[in-house]
Amino acid sequence: MIAIAPPLRLRLDSAALVANWRWLAAQGGAAACGAAIKADGYGLGACAVMARLAAAGCRDFFVATWAEAAALMPLPQGVSLSVLHGIGPDDMVAARLLPARPVLNSVEQVQRWREAGEGQPCDVMVDTGMNRLGLRVEEALGGALDGLAIDTLLSHLASADEDSEQNARQLAAFRALRARVRARRYSLANSAGICLGVDYAFDLTRPGIALYGGTPREEARGHIRQVAYPEARVLQLREVRVGESVGYGATWRAARDTRVAIANMGYADGYLRCHAGSGGATWHGRALPLIGRVSMDLTAFDASRAEGLREGDWLAIDYDLPTLAIGTGLSQYELLTGLGPRFGRFMC
Ligand SMILES: *Cc1c(COP(=O)(O)O)cnc(C)c1O
Repeated sequence: MIAIAPPLRLRLDSAALVANWRWLAAQGGAAACGAAIKADGYGLGACAVMARLAAAGCRDFFVATWAEAAALMPLPQGVSLSVLHGIGPDDMVAARLLPARPVLNSVEQVQRWREAGEGQPCDVMVDTGMNRLGLRVEEALGGALDGLAIDTLLSHLASADEDSEQNARQLAAFRALRARVRARRYSLANSAGICLGVDYAFDLTRPGIALYGGTPREEARGHIRQVAYPEARVLQLREVRVGESVGYGATWRAARDTRVAIANMGYADGYLRCHAGSGGATWHGRALPLIGRVSMDLTAFDASRAEGLREGDWLAIDYDLPTLAIGTGLSQYELLTGLGPRFGRFMC
């Protein structure tokens, strides 16, 4: 096999990742601070994220599926891993073999776990109003969990990124649960939930997006640092004459002679067409606005101000998540998890 360098780079700032985790941990007061690393660490690379955060003191990690759990083996020393989707009909082999806890999500899953006779600690998700995953409160209080060795009892906030009255309602429901269902620990807050205040932190918080540079609520602005920096390469520089157009549909037309850089990144890499109108890149501090439509593997940038730029040079793609979310209409989550496999991920 010959080693071929990846055509695109996703530079990951591990110091920013750790700083974000520390800030989130501090907001939770005495609560431990875990990390959601599902979807390959929100697209950044779950293994590298887990290694960095574990070295910083993080002990509790969450993935969605058993395949994601298996890809993380062997776990760093002293680390606990939970699988949010729980145990479906085909998951018992993995659940038995892997050192990870299922988050049991339904009476049926609880039954499956009991029948397997594991007796090992599990986690349990109770739904307090989102109606996504979890036992209903009545089920949890009605005996479905009796005798189960519950490590962490979880619930998930539906509207924590908004000033919604649903937050207080879910908090009250979770407090009532905590009073009546025995578990070693209780956990409610995601990134946005952490920003709602220490009342929401309980024993363990589970941030995801804010670790990776997302700003879930105003309270986090100025505290959360960008982690992911995509970089694309200039394949070609061309002089577009006044009046000529660029790209599919000829949506951009040159108002004057313009130097245009064609970069090797497109919507197949998760850089979607909705970046048109607001996207851009920089090269040595010079701004290169995106022009025309984004293609599958190519994007054009106005390089008029980037004197000295050459074919083969790397462009830093603008990727401040809150800004991009406004410009594109995509969520900060989609902006990260959509970045594709042609990006080589580099932690530095
Ligand atoms: C994804 C997820 C989180 C993390 O949420 P963020 O909004 O990314 O902080 C926490 N808990 C559960 C159950 C999740 O599914």
